[in-house]
Amino acid sequence: MNAITIKNLSKTYDSNVFALKKVNLEIPKGSFYALLGPNGAGKSTTIGILTQLVNKTSGKVLIHDNDIDTHSTKSKELLGIVPQEFNFNIFEKVIDILIQQAGFYGVPEDEARKRSYTILKQLGLYEKKDAISRSLSGGMKRRLMIARALVHHPKVLILDEPTAGVDIELRRGMYTFLKKLNKQGTTILLTTHYLEEAEELCDTIAIIDKGKILVDSPKKELLQKLEKEYFILDTQGPIDTTKLTYKSSHTKNGLEVEVKKDQDLNLIFQELSKQNVKVLSMKPKSNRLEEIFVELTE
Ligand code: ADP
Repeated sequence: MNAITIKNLSKTYDSNVFALKKVNLEIPKGSFYALLGPNGAGKSTTIGILTQLVNKTSGKVLIHDNDIDTHSTKSKELLGIVPQEFNFNIFEKVIDILIQQAGFYGVPEDEARKRSYTILKQLGLYEKKDAISRSLSGGMKRRLMIARALVHHPKVLILDEPTAGVDIELRRGMYTFLKKLNKQGTTILLTTHYLEEAEELCDTIAIIDKGKILVDSPKKELLQKLEKEYFILDTQGPIDTTKLTYKSSHTKNGLEVEVKKDQDLNLIFQELSKQNVKVLSMKPKSNRLEEIFVELTE
């Protein structure tokens, strides 16, 4: 069974803006799915429709086989949603926000308190449980949003650009948390325009642009589609690029090398060793997904 099934989903806003054009997506249970695309691609609209905050123009959406049109409440209960904007009451205590949210889903207060403590501990927010939410830092507020989305134990967690404006250190912690949650069985759908984020976290990636799905594929397959990769090598010693098998050019600190899909990397080290060149470091020139994205949207 899919966690989310989207069939021929279209959305036209009142302003006659086409936001989605016949989108089809199947998000299997247990997957960690990225909806990746630039600003204005239709990501928030998709999420808005899934969570019933935005009315679709046409098409079908099922959450665990529950049609959002005919089984609206059940569909909502299965989802936890982390929107982009903070939308909790800033004058309330952290713990009260969580208990109240759980209450909306019929979780009794004792149980809600227990769950809240557990989630707050996992997210490193337990110390702040009695703080007024306004006093939290931006990163803590973001984590509070995640805690609130999880307190009714949803089967599917949807995050809209979860790390927009979140610093790198906090992002790491959030990634670890989300990966663990997914391993434990929660399906996660995340929208992002950070390619690195989709690559780091997700097993499946759908690329959306101008309201249309361009690719919907396991991450591995997507990456294998790339014909070439570019690597930047920091090196020591003079290099004669004409003697190298690989297409390469000099950079400030070494070499840029083009490696085709069927080539391995061993030879480049051997050839450089022959020239008494030391390789100090090596890194991919740019994100591979970014290259795919450029190829697809050109
Ligand atoms: P993303 O989340 O990928 O940035 P959105 O779903 O927000 O994209 O937007 C998709 C398209 O729909 C854009 O052209 C955007 O301007 C338009 N749009 C989004 N929300 C509204 C709205 N409430 N009214 C009119 N147009 C909208």
